[in-house]
Amino acid sequence: MIQRGLLVVLSGPSGAGKGTVCKSLLPSTEGLSYSISCTTRAPREGEMHGVNYFFLTPERFEEMIGNDELLEWANVYSNYYGTPVKYVEDKLAAGENVLLEIDIQGALQVKRKYPNGVFIFLIPPSLEELKKRILGRGTETEESFKLRFGAAAEEMEYITEYDYVVVNDEVEKAVEKIRSIIVAELSSVKRNREYYMKLIREGQKDAVSFD
Ligand code: ADP
Ligand code: 5GP
Repeated sequence: MIQRGLLVVLSGPSGAGKGTVCKSLLPSTEGLSYSISCTTRAPREGEMHGVNYFFLTPERFEEMIGNDELLEWANVYSNYYGTPVKYVEDKLAAGENVLLEIDIQGALQVKRKYPNGVFIFLIPPSLEELKKRILGRGTETEESFKLRFGAAAEEMEYITEYDYVVVNDEVEKAVEKIRSIIVAELSSVKRNREYYMKLIREGQKDAVSFD
């Protein structure tokens, strides 16, 4: 019997460091796969189709919505973003843990469908530091900077919907905290009650056949 994988959802304001943290977390955490999202936003310099995102036209994205190919989707900062359902479902069914790096609207949709997931909110040490990080990344126009930074304070209000908050002061410390959360959640009896009950029942069956 394969134990279903754990779904890990990471959200937080733009510029908090989600991408940076994921980049370090993924290669150093066994059994954790990254779900590549679809988006209609333009690729940033160095971003590649099928690596960072699947970059789609709005028409193709809307087709995916119509075909129920997305686990969740949202309009974030004036572009569509969504999670292809098949990859996530296949990995979880195979017992692999899956990491989604998605916005709050998407996380709330996922929470309704996968209440057993673990929801982590990554925050910067301060709004001033957030501003520095978004500007320091050098990827935004003035308009998209305003949109992202302006949304941050409002986004922070959703912290209470999450299970854990991690402050990204130093990347490696934040990565270590997230890894610890995953390790603890994988050992949680409450989360795995059904699996253990089934094991126990099967164990009893074996015991009977030994008589
Ligand atoms: P997000 O994915 O949340 O939008 P990024 O990972 O793109 O954020 O990070 C935004 C910027 O902040 C990047 O230039 C990144 O190098 C920088 N950054 C991320 N984490 C830290 C940190 N702990 N300390 C300093 N700078 C950071
Ligand atoms: P960025 O354009 O900076 O890569 O991402 C902008 C926002 O979209 C971030 O908050 C990021 O977490 C979110 N995002 C990325 N992929 C998805 C997705 O598949 N679904 C949703 N709902 N949000 C996403």
